[in-house]
Amino acid sequence: MSSAPTKIHTVDKEGKEITTVGFNRFGFDSEVNLEALRALYLRAHYSNAGPNGKSAQNSSDEDGTYQSNSIYNKETGGISYTTLTRFPPVKLLAPSERKRVLVTGGAGFVGSHLVDRLMLLGHEVTVLDNFFTGSKTTVSHWVGHPNFELVRHDVVEPFMIECDQIYHLACPASPPHYQYNPVKTVKTSFMGTLNMLGLAKRTKARFLITSTSEVYGDPEVHPQHEEYWGHVNPIGIRACYDEGKRVAETLTYGYQRQDKVDVRVARIFNTYGPRMNPYDGRVVSNFIVQALKGEDMTVYGDGKQTRSFQYVHDLIDGLIALMNSDESRPVNIGNGDEFTIIEFAELVREIVEKVQDEAGIKRTRSVKIIHKDMPKDDPKQRRPDTTRAKETLKWQPRWSVRMGLEEMVRYYKAKMEEGNL
Ligand code: NAD
Ligand code: UDP
Ligand code: UDP
Repeated sequence: MSSAPTKIHTVDKEGKEITTVGFNRFGFDSEVNLEALRALYLRAHYSNAGPNGKSAQNSSDEDGTYQSNSIYNKETGGISYTTLTRFPPVKLLAPSERKRVLVTGGAGFVGSHLVDRLMLLGHEVTVLDNFFTGSKTTVSHWVGHPNFELVRHDVVEPFMIECDQIYHLACPASPPHYQYNPVKTVKTSFMGTLNMLGLAKRTKARFLITSTSEVYGDPEVHPQHEEYWGHVNPIGIRACYDEGKRVAETLTYGYQRQDKVDVRVARIFNTYGPRMNPYDGRVVSNFIVQALKGEDMTVYGDGKQTRSFQYVHDLIDGLIALMNSDESRPVNIGNGDEFTIIEFAELVREIVEKVQDEAGIKRTRSVKIIHKDMPKDDPKQRRPDTTRAKETLKWQPRWSVRMGLEEMVRYYKAKMEEGNL
């Protein structure tokens, strides 16, 4: 059973200790203490029942971790939920500084981290999600907070609200999820984005869409810069997502030209971190879960294809900087640390073993790397050119892949110990 997170020593790419994430840029303060954020994703969601059926551990929030009072009873398999005894402290902002922010897809992996950051900063946050790939548990720690609202809604249907900023994330992002119902994926990208742009037009809210490196398809230009138009198969199995995002960008710039909607477009490259659905089929979650469980790690094809991996806190820094900047052209947000998938599998295995050794966990077998068929249209290489983000947002990733992976492994290990994996 994991309890309050122990102090973790994290250094950035230059070897400097990371104690806060975010920064004050373009008149918007996005800086929060890293431990305050970690308390929200590394802490256990419940404690185990002792022999008397009561919580076995002190569940008060005196230690500052805002531990949930939910109790799990292993014998009966029952869980008794409560909300937090007290919400984590959020900044008290003057009404003139407090923004009304709508986050679509806010119960997903990226969305929930954005919500944590905006909430700790003192803004009013409304999450709109249909819980297709997201889950209420990613944001349940804010339910009941006066600055927070959670709405079950499908973005393909119109939605009315008054707001100042819209982060439009709603869309499944992992290949198995977006290929599960390809027609719905295109509908979400087109009709969902149309509705949120209509909302932005009516309210004069600033609109940011999370587009993707997939708009570059299987790229013939390496690394990929924003002026590259891409190489996408319009009828392949990835097209529902790639072409969906491409048409979502087209709509976004259509509303900018036609209706003067204030738009921002983030082209996100592969991002990983805690709260990624462990079974969503993407490579980072697959590899970590396989290695932690002692199962074989599945490399697709010969593993020579490359990806570049960004830690989620860097992405949130980039999204908030972009939203509050004057840059309305597309901006790549990603980490240039590029790996072949086979190298990456070896790195993940090494880090999982390190974290297990530190915790004194004995491995029952050594994890093997095996090969499976390569999915169709899988891009052969991917690395962002982040010159534009550096110049216009003064943003560059700070987290090394190793540091981010260690934190993600600790998160999944804690979930496994909770019986949640
Ligand atoms: P995710 O699947 O964890 O989150 C997506 C969220 O959107 C989920 O909560 C899901 O329930 C919700 N959603 C899906 N369809 C919806 C609909 N029709 N109506 C309302 N809600 C809906 O994925 P993620 O990794 O958090 O991705 C978030 C956004 O970032 C997506 O737009 C994705 O395309 C983009 N992106 C992510 C990555 C990455 O590596 N994580 C890379 C590029 C782009
Ligand atoms: N829309 C919405 N919320 C709003 C405003 C508009 O969901 O607050 C939807 C609206 O239902 C429409 C879409 O956004 O389907 C596009 O709106 P727009 O005003 O651009 O187009 P129109 O309604 O004129 O077709
Ligand atoms: N991949 C893999 N094993 C897995 C999952 C994915 O080798 O268990 C490969 C996949 O073929 C791709 C890369 O890892 O080349 C990244 O896949 P992911 O689904 O994470 O993202 P995307 O292809 O959208 O970048």
